[in-house]
Amino acid sequence: MENKILGLHHITAIAGEAQRNYTFYTKILGLRLVKKTVNFDDPGTYHFYYGDEIGTPGSILTFFPWEGIQKGRAGAGMATEIGYSVAKGSLPFWAKRFGEQKVKHQLVAERMGEQFLSFEDPDGLMLNLIETGTTDNRQPWETKDVPADVATKGFHSIVLTVRNSTATAKVLTDIFGYRLVAQEGNRYRFVTDAIATANIVDLVEEPNGSMGINAGGTNHHVAFRVKDDEILMAFREKVQAAGLQITEKIDRNYFYSLYFREPGGILFEIASDNPGFATDESVAELGTHLMLPPQYEKSRRQIEDVLPVIQSES
Ligand code: ZN
Repeated sequence: MENKILGLHHITAIAGEAQRNYTFYTKILGLRLVKKTVNFDDPGTYHFYYGDEIGTPGSILTFFPWEGIQKGRAGAGMATEIGYSVAKGSLPFWAKRFGEQKVKHQLVAERMGEQFLSFEDPDGLMLNLIETGTTDNRQPWETKDVPADVATKGFHSIVLTVRNSTATAKVLTDIFGYRLVAQEGNRYRFVTDAIATANIVDLVEEPNGSMGINAGGTNHHVAFRVKDDEILMAFREKVQAAGLQITEKIDRNYFYSLYFREPGGILFEIASDNPGFATDESVAELGTHLMLPPQYEKSRRQIEDVLPVIQSES
C-alpha cells in the first residue's frame, strides 16, 4: 500500500481578508492553525494551513488570503465542495452553532447514504460536514467551543466538477488507484482502498455547467498524498506516461510537491508526508510564529511590514 496515493493530502483555496479567514477556521470551525507562512510565489501574502494537532495529511486546508480580491465562482474545471468527516450525531451541534454564529448553511440532507450539512465560509467557499458511514478513528483538534466528540476529524471527501468526467475518472482510476463505487445521478463516487480516511473523490459531471472562476471563495488546487518524495517521483513518471504535463519536484518546506492539470481543468498536486509541519516549530508551538522559507528570511522585516497583523486572541 505504501507506494500508492493515500487519499487527500491538502486542499488549497483563496480567501479575502486574512483575519476573517483566521477567525472563521480557528474559532468557528475549531481547526488548529498549524502553519503561518507566506505564499512562496508571492511572499507579501500569507499562506495559512489549518488542520489537526500536527497537520496530519488528509486534515490540511490551506488558504492564500488576498485582501480585496474579487469573488470567484465555483464551477466546472474546479474542486467545488470540501467535505469534512464528523462523528454520527454531530450535525445538530453544528446546525445550532452555525445559526448562532450567522454562518450561511443549509438544512441537513442525505447523499450517498450519509447525512451532511452544507455551509459557506465568509468568502463563499462551499464546505460540508458529513457524518461518515465508515469508521473514522482520527483524533480531532479540540477547542473550548468545539469539543472532540463533534469536532471535524479531517477530510471526508472532495467534490470535483467537470463537463466531461471520462478523462478525469481515468486519472483517478488508472494513475491514482481509485475505483468507482457508487453513482447518484451525475455524481460518481471514487474511493481508494489504500487508506481508510480522506479517501473519497466525488466526480460531478455537468456537461453544460459554467466554468469556474478562480478567485476569492473558490478552491485553487487539490493535493493527493504519497508517503515520501521517492514515491512522489514514481508518480511523476506515471503522469507523464499518460501524456500529461507535470512540474519538476518543488520543495514546499513541509512537503515535496508536483503539480499537473488534469484533463477536466482542475489543478492537481501530489504531495509527500515528509518532512511535515513540526520541522521548524515544535508541535506545541505550531502556527504561533510567522515561518519563512530560507530564501525569504533575509527579507523578514519588509515581509512583516506588509502582512496584515492577525489577532489570535478573542
Ligand atoms: Zn498545495
